[in-house]
Amino acid sequence: MTDAPRPRALGRKSIRPSLVPRDLMGDEELAGVWTAQVITLLPQAFPGVLGESLTGRALQEGVWALRTIDLREFGEGRHRNVDDTPAGGGAGMVLRADIGAKAMAEAVSRARGDVPRLLLSPRGRRFDQAMARDLARRDGVILFCGRFEGVDERLIEQFGLAEVSLGDFVLTGGEIAAQALLDATVRLMPRVLGNHHSAEEESFSSGLLEYPQYTKPAVWEGRAIPEVLLSGHHAKITAWRQAEAERLTKERRPDLWRDHLAKLGRPEEDREL
Ligand code: SAH
Repeated sequence: MTDAPRPRALGRKSIRPSLVPRDLMGDEELAGVWTAQVITLLPQAFPGVLGESLTGRALQEGVWALRTIDLREFGEGRHRNVDDTPAGGGAGMVLRADIGAKAMAEAVSRARGDVPRLLLSPRGRRFDQAMARDLARRDGVILFCGRFEGVDERLIEQFGLAEVSLGDFVLTGGEIAAQALLDATVRLMPRVLGNHHSAEEESFSSGLLEYPQYTKPAVWEGRAIPEVLLSGHHAKITAWRQAEAERLTKERRPDLWRDHLAKLGRPEEDREL
């Protein structure tokens, strides 16, 4: 990399001059920047939607970095095979532990600092806002995207992979789940969202779902924006939003509502429901 441009401060840390990324997903290491390393059979699927809008701008500005590791490159033989039939029989193919391990070793050797190793998996712990917040505070993440029937269990054991699920449904591969996880995480980093308040008031940040939002026109198809929102009375607006957030949470997510009451030390109100 002799053609490196002059030093620039990108994102929250400055980047070594010889390591300035030439594009969104340069292979260069970023000093001290929150870095996602994604092991996948579909590296061309990245950055995908993460390259757009706020996450894309943050990527370009070096607030975070993304590096894909092509699992195929570690495959064996003329066809670079990465999978084989399941031991014990059954349908589909399983990603081999020895192949996956080479990709993992590469990611681990590049990782700097506190970098959790996750496997996207429908068996995993359900991803949520608290996990996104936790990840955003670390130094990055290693994400292993499964395909086919999944990965050999011994890979999970060997690298202590924590399994994380997007929800109770089955995707064909971990890539969409990885992008969803990264989107939710990256948007919590300072300077990614234009307005810091938008991350503080939205759904889940307070343990409640968000209140209804409105914008112009004031009346549309005979439906008016609730008067209080146009009153300019901030205390009343705050109270209305709080009441609506509570109503929606109670109606739609009894699980969250129960947790909310418990946090407030009012579990008896839940029993009355
Ligand atoms: N046979 C597996 C499903 C494999 S789906 C099973 O029954 O559990 C193939 C890959 O898609 C998985 O290895 C995982 O990486 C990804 N995947 C599928 N559903 C997912 C979900 N809900 N959350 C995260 N990753 C998922």
